[in-house]
Amino acid sequence: MLPSRVSVVVVGGGPAGFMAAITAATADSAGSRAGEVLLLEATPEPLHKVLISGGGRCNVTHACWDPRLLADHYPRGGRALRGPFSRFAAGDTVAWFEAHGLELVEEPDGRMFPRSNRSTSVVDTLRQAALAAGVRVQTAQAGQAAEALAGGGFRLRLRSGAEVQAERLVLATGSHPSGHRIATSLGHGLVAPVPSLFSLTLAEHPLAGLAGVAMDPVQLELVLAPLEGAATLPREAPQRQRGAVLITHWGLSGPATLRLTAFAARVLRQRSYRAELRVDWTGGRRPADLEELFSAARREQARRQMGNWRPWPDLSRRLWLHLLDRHGVDASLRWADLTRRGELALISALRDSRYPVAGRGPFGEEFVTAGGVPLSEVNLATMESRLQPGLFLVGELLDVDGVTGGFNFQHCWSSGWLAGKALAAQRMCS
Ligand SMILES: Cc1cc2nc3c(=O)[nH]c(=O)nc-3n(C[C@H](O)[C@H](O)[C@H](O)COP(=O)(O)OP(=O)(O)OC[C@H]3O[C@@H](n4cnc5c(N)ncnc54)[C@H](O)[C@@H]3O)c2cc1C
Repeated sequence: MLPSRVSVVVVGGGPAGFMAAITAATADSAGSRAGEVLLLEATPEPLHKVLISGGGRCNVTHACWDPRLLADHYPRGGRALRGPFSRFAAGDTVAWFEAHGLELVEEPDGRMFPRSNRSTSVVDTLRQAALAAGVRVQTAQAGQAAEALAGGGFRLRLRSGAEVQAERLVLATGSHPSGHRIATSLGHGLVAPVPSLFSLTLAEHPLAGLAGVAMDPVQLELVLAPLEGAATLPREAPQRQRGAVLITHWGLSGPATLRLTAFAARVLRQRSYRAELRVDWTGGRRPADLEELFSAARREQARRQMGNWRPWPDLSRRLWLHLLDRHGVDASLRWADLTRRGELALISALRDSRYPVAGRGPFGEEFVTAGGVPLSEVNLATMESRLQPGLFLVGELLDVDGVTGGFNFQHCWSSGWLAGKALAAQRMCS
């Protein structure tokens, strides 16, 4: 049975909704808490994305302790998030989970996972914390419409036809259109949602035979054609990233590709995911340094066949053989016999290979949506709507998205915690 009246109703049982509900229902050091907190989840199983995240391991956050640096990892959000992160950032997430019995450990690249390496530990921790705080979690209950009441508070209508009245309403519906509809019906704008964090499909995939090859670091640059009728490129261009790249059966993936597509999510969408991709397989080595490497190989490995000696050891052998073949250099040629023309062609191929992008890849490591309720419409100290008092907006519902590495969950923990704290404090005042 659903209660007909509560202090706070949270719509959406994802990480942001759970963090908001738990924090609101937990008494702080001043003894303030938000009264009865009801969390409604449309599906039978809350926290589904947490469960499937990070390949079943859940990349909870990133070991980036400075709020200013943390904010740089959000293509949408950016500087505006410095304020929220100065109150609750990655270090607070680590401490919060530890206080709730879950230790997070850092991997060499900075990503943080539960020590168990299982996302179920994160789900269990959140569910237990909600239980301990007295949050009432109701599953298979979808919020459908909300109305602000004249005397304050909200009436929430559910898909089942039931209604709940609440003094405060928290929308934590992720990228689901139902949450967008409720937010806009309460006066909010919506930045059109588009996918972010995806791999790239290459036209006639010239690297298809190299699927599985990983290179690190590689420098990627998207060359974007001006939009029809636009004299200049939008402010977001040009788009460059450096890091690990994975060649797949359809094109390119890996952290650098995902970061590239996250920052270029909107400009790529405007161009129907067509662009030219410049790949510097050397990771940004200077031409003079490459010439030196080639000279050294010619001098010191003169009798070796080109296919058996790579200019530097970390260059993938399969990629090197592919580039030799593509540029008409016989792999059995001895290094001593490489012509100057051949050398320049190979250096150019290593530094500046160009591939036409034909679309988005079938999947990325994380799927997130860019777009949502504009941050300018929310008080970022409390996550309360600037347009509708008593309404709070958290998580992916907002026009915030991060690059891969735990940054998307971090925003959910931060925004959920801020909303929860504000809800607890408001209750004390009322
Ligand atoms: C495969 C995959 C892997 C990922 N891995 C990572 C990772 O390792 N690290 C990371 O930082 N990010 C990761 N992400 C991104 C991350 O999962 C999201 O950014 C995050 O889950 C957003 O949290 P949220 O609470 O805002 O929304 P969601 O997690 O989407 O939760 C919203 C909840 O609200 C419910 N809901 C929607 N509408 C209604 C309604 N009308 N009424 C009631 N309930 C409703 C939904 O069913 C859902 O349970 C991954 C995403 C995917 C898809």
